[in-house]
Amino acid sequence: MSDMSVKRNGVVTDFVANHVRSIPRSGIRDFFEIVQSMTDVVSLGIGEPDFATPWHIREAAIYALEKGRTGYTSNLGLPRLRKSIARYVRQNYHVEYDALSEVLVAVGVSEAMDIALRAVINPGDEVLYHSPCYVSYSPSILLVHGKPVEIPTLAEDHFKLRAEALKAKITPKSKVLILNFPTNPTGAVMNQQELLAIAEVCQQHDLLVITDEIYSELSYGEAHCSIASLPGMRERCIFLHGFSKAFAMTGFRVGYACAPVALIEAMMRIHQYAMLCAPIISQEAAIEALENGQSDMEQMREQYQLRRNFLLNSFREIGIPCFNAQGAFYLFPRIDQTGLNSREFAVRLLEEQKVAVVPGNAFGGSGEGHVRCSYATGMDQLEVAVERIGKFVRSL
Ligand code: PLP
Repeated sequence: MSDMSVKRNGVVTDFVANHVRSIPRSGIRDFFEIVQSMTDVVSLGIGEPDFATPWHIREAAIYALEKGRTGYTSNLGLPRLRKSIARYVRQNYHVEYDALSEVLVAVGVSEAMDIALRAVINPGDEVLYHSPCYVSYSPSILLVHGKPVEIPTLAEDHFKLRAEALKAKITPKSKVLILNFPTNPTGAVMNQQELLAIAEVCQQHDLLVITDEIYSELSYGEAHCSIASLPGMRERCIFLHGFSKAFAMTGFRVGYACAPVALIEAMMRIHQYAMLCAPIISQEAAIEALENGQSDMEQMREQYQLRRNFLLNSFREIGIPCFNAQGAFYLFPRIDQTGLNSREFAVRLLEEQKVAVVPGNAFGGSGEGHVRCSYATGMDQLEVAVERIGKFVRSL
């Protein structure tokens, strides 16, 4: 019997919609349920900063509460925050957006991505994305009845998206390309020249780009370039960003989308019914982050860079090949030379040496043969992790 013909017959799960039922649970979550049941584990698994939100940003939230600023805001977000966002995006990404009509404050990049997809996808539209990629892209596309189309990228090519690979996946149904540079889980980056080639394909094939630039401040090599800043791209881009990573504000749940007014208007219609607005306390904290948080962010970035260098050198000493990731806070070393697949490597490393890393295939088929190691973890923990990983690899 096909899934479509399942009738409600008193079984509670039969109430769940077919397309939701078919979505797999996150491979990371399942893996970390095992981790949580163990003690003395060093975790390189978590994709969130180990730093607490800088104190003055927390204070801004406390102050908002003290002042009784506890109501709804405009659906689009506090005007002052939208002005700060427009200024920040202009200064750092070189794209001009009108603060009051082209910026929408959302509940994290997660919500911004969801409403962006909901605003533009008709059933059956194809959404392309480079892989390995953030675990939520494929399910988010499926939830809006789009068709996810993975474009594998290669370790040998530093996990960059190439125009030829993109072209090869384009069909008459292709509508959207999701980009995420620096990339979760690989730490890959793309420079201006490389993005120009992608921009050209998008223009030739009339693709809309949703660019998730949540790790953009955490770039350690060349200056970050946004595809939205390239000629002809502003009109076909939805620029997504947030506060979770660079300002260590994951729990505040605040992010934003910048796009031409027609797209922001469409997203706002969904946001106003589904979410109403992002929490005001988080929005007040976000203003403080953008206006006075630059030096804290730079200090955190310096720490991440030191940790990245340490981890990269350590992997090389142990004999684990790893490309020199230039962004985010992840390394994506290759482990297939050990004879184990991603999951076997991660499970055995956890069981035998109590180090948690994420199997690369959690991020799509092209992540197989790798594991994701987050260095959003203190140096003392990284040192222990490296010693244990070395022991484990030598034992194989
Ligand atoms: N986009 C990417 C690539 C991420 O890695 C994450 C979180 O790990 C998110 C979006 C979610 O961001 P937010 O906390 O702003 O919802």
